[in-house]
Amino acid sequence: MSKLIYEFGANQTDGNKDMRNLLWGKGANLAEMSKVWIPVPPWFTITTELCNEYYDNDEKLSPELINWVESSIINVWNKVWKIFWEVKNPLLVSVRSGSRFSMPGMMDTILNLWLNDKTVEWIAEKTNNEKFAFDSYRRFIQMYSNVVLQINMDIFEEIIDNFKTRRNIKNDTEFTWADLREMSDKFKKTITKFKKEFPQDVNEQLHWSIEAVFKSWMNQRAIDYRNMNNMAHDYGTAVNIQSMVFGNTGSNSATWVAFSRNPSNGQSKFYWEYLINAQWEDVVAWIRTPQQITELWKKENKSKLPSMEETLPEMYNQLFDIQRKLEKHYNDMQDIEFTIEDGKLWILQTRNWKRTAQAAIKIATDMVWEWKIDKKEAILRIEADSINQLLHPRLDPKHTKKPDTTWLAASPWAAYWEVVFSADDAEKKAAEWKNVILVRNETSPEDIKWMYLAKGILTKTWGMTSHAAVVARGMWRPCVCGAGDIKIDNNNRTLRINGTTVKEWDIISIEGGTGKVFLREISTIDPQLSEEYHTIMQWADEIKKLQVRANADTPEDTKKALELGAEWIWLCRTEHMFFEPERISHVRKMLLADNEKIRSEAINELLKMQKSDFYEIFKLMEDRPVNIRLLDPPLHEFLPTSEVEIKNLASTIDIDESILKSKIQDSEEINPMLWTRGCRLWILHPEIYQMQVRAIFEAAIEAEKVTGKTIVPEVMVPLIMTVKEFTFLKQKIEEVAEEVSKKKKKKIHYLIWSMIELPQAAFIAWKLVKEWAQFFSFWTNDLTQTTKWLSRDDTGSLLQEYKTKWIISKDPFVHLDEEGVGELIEIWIQKARKEDESIKLGICWEHGGDPKSIDFFNKNNLNYVSCSPYRVPIARLSAAQAEINEEKSEK
Ligand code: ADP
Ligand code: MG
Ligand code: MG
Repeated sequence: MSKLIYEFGANQTDGNKDMRNLLWGKGANLAEMSKVWIPVPPWFTITTELCNEYYDNDEKLSPELINWVESSIINVWNKVWKIFWEVKNPLLVSVRSGSRFSMPGMMDTILNLWLNDKTVEWIAEKTNNEKFAFDSYRRFIQMYSNVVLQINMDIFEEIIDNFKTRRNIKNDTEFTWADLREMSDKFKKTITKFKKEFPQDVNEQLHWSIEAVFKSWMNQRAIDYRNMNNMAHDYGTAVNIQSMVFGNTGSNSATWVAFSRNPSNGQSKFYWEYLINAQWEDVVAWIRTPQQITELWKKENKSKLPSMEETLPEMYNQLFDIQRKLEKHYNDMQDIEFTIEDGKLWILQTRNWKRTAQAAIKIATDMVWEWKIDKKEAILRIEADSINQLLHPRLDPKHTKKPDTTWLAASPWAAYWEVVFSADDAEKKAAEWKNVILVRNETSPEDIKWMYLAKGILTKTWGMTSHAAVVARGMWRPCVCGAGDIKIDNNNRTLRINGTTVKEWDIISIEGGTGKVFLREISTIDPQLSEEYHTIMQWADEIKKLQVRANADTPEDTKKALELGAEWIWLCRTEHMFFEPERISHVRKMLLADNEKIRSEAINELLKMQKSDFYEIFKLMEDRPVNIRLLDPPLHEFLPTSEVEIKNLASTIDIDESILKSKIQDSEEINPMLWTRGCRLWILHPEIYQMQVRAIFEAAIEAEKVTGKTIVPEVMVPLIMTVKEFTFLKQKIEEVAEEVSKKKKKKIHYLIWSMIELPQAAFIAWKLVKEWAQFFSFWTNDLTQTTKWLSRDDTGSLLQEYKTKWIISKDPFVHLDEEGVGELIEIWIQKARKEDESIKLGICWEHGGDPKSIDFFNKNNLNYVSCSPYRVPIARLSAAQAEINEEKSEK
């Protein structure tokens, strides 16, 4: 039978950092630290196997598990010379969760276990520190009640506040031991009001706490968090039971977090915060203001409180050495949780911590220059999706408005949006696809779904390690926190700063990189990309095999795509040019008018507009290839729907209203809407593509004149199902080319091709290759929809369901479905390459910018991917990562 409990401490260990799957991050890293002589309080880890067994066993602790735990506790007490189960010299422990992926604050931890009415007295007497003893006791009752008995923390906070008012004090540390004793009695009484009881029995305390931590794996906030981050739910949590060390014994004790580099911007400096005479929840619950560890960080924060470097210089030096050692050992930036008990330093956790994209890139490139990792490793260390963060806009630095207030720059990026005060409102607005800024006194783990839905966060909560700040950085949301001068009135839903009132739905702007808050809209500008970003991207381009192209529909998109490193404008979708309000009326006239004059006028108008669009794009792209897809969506998408619109249109195109109505009805289609769509729409309405093709060719000739380059537009026929459709339309396009060429007396260069969007087309691949063997592409959006039959739903309910999912879990379509659509693509590649080995194949649509799908395309040796401009950098980086990982797996 495999080992189920691992024991560590006092530099002995039977685990290590590579045992993540069993011990999960926390346990494995504690083990690793003991191995390399870092001071860690003795503990043992109950593996995740036992957590899963607990769930299989109807959520009951088995007698075997209890036996193992007991004998392991004896091993711990042998190391610290304190005794569990005994009132005299009692061993206090913490019960800590630990998951495979870091889920900050999502699961539960209990400290100071094995305090009761008797042990607290013994400790008070023997340590001669009653205040510490009763402080620890009231904390334990609070945490136990919250985590195990599920009683809301607010009730205890309220009692503490009442004590403060009564005693006229501001800070928790000012309570006397008598206050704290009275408080713990009050807590116990309060619990009974909920018909619950705080157990005096140590076994009861322990067993219920272990169960509570097991159960916290499946609490709602943990489930939400995993859903949002696409994490699986079936791993379970480990439980770490560890002997306590105390940061709350007096002014020679402290606790909190240190970073070996700055997780916000990547600066290679030792950073972060500590609290004197405190335990962990003090910071989390925003009871006290943390102080800075280093002098430098203190200056950067303009803080007046003394730094650890000043107050506890010896401890500071030790901590400094340890963070260097840990960073060297793990060869990555570390997030280190520590506690100082009466001048002795203990490390409670270390991990390769989450960081912003800006920090990830800075740290990775710095570590290459420091000779610690190679370029490939640096590329692998950046989460490709996170590049998104760098492309968010910033507030325009040229604006002249003064900020209404400035507080902690907790999480970079900027936002200007409507204000909401409640989670519900954030959800409502998100369902309408609106962006909001959530304003709260503080956030808690329960809020995390809403923080995700909101696009920016503003809190009164103090601290770079406050819940709001940590979560916002993890979610790439701009956040300003610690805004002490804002007054939030949740009942009336208003926010006041310095005499100005902001109501719900008013617009404010926050700048998370500087901490500035403006009670108005401030315009934004494009982000500036750092030198390190360009370095990493250059390395990625050197390594990747896949070519990265962009789908760009407008001249602005084209510019953006080139800026972001697209090698080619792959697809210009013309329907987007049609939907602008000014244009749609001409489109309707073209499609519906019987009157020849009205129709030809409309066509002429559209021709002018389209020609100038194409002209601009050709001018920008010069002789780089541009693929243009002719009109694609179902006919009825262009047609009016409301009574008023129909009436108005009938009068402008001089047609009887009832005839117009029946024309509109005739073109209505239901799922999967493939008839009057794409190339089939053209066969019915030749005037559309004639106009489009003419616009393309005329624009190309004019752009050639100004650029002096040979422009070769690539004209794409969408949604073909049969070879016949294609040959027919190819001929029609050639006719227009000839006509334009004659009229303008100029030779026209162009290519004609199509795309694989329907399963039917994938099966006749080899015939299409025979017909015109130049290049091919998959359009994976339609291919996914037509393969899966999910494109549109008449009742809208399916669509709604997917929309909601999309909001919560990013995009359910965005990973290519390898077992359906992926197989179709593989079949097609085989057939096409059999016909012509050198044929160039690629894919197009957002899968082309999705890291997981890019992995699949790289394995299948496609030549290129194409995606929207803002995904281009993600695609470049992912393509390099896919290639590096493939090289690794071949070794
Ligand atoms: P999380 O996973 O939310 O970070 P942890 O298990 O790391 O939760 O516990 C949170 C904090 O509780 C730690 O950072 C530390 O300050 C405190 N803590 C946990 N175990 C002990 C212990 N044995 N002695 C002292 N403090 C502890
Ligand atoms: Mg922790
Ligand atoms: Mg399409």
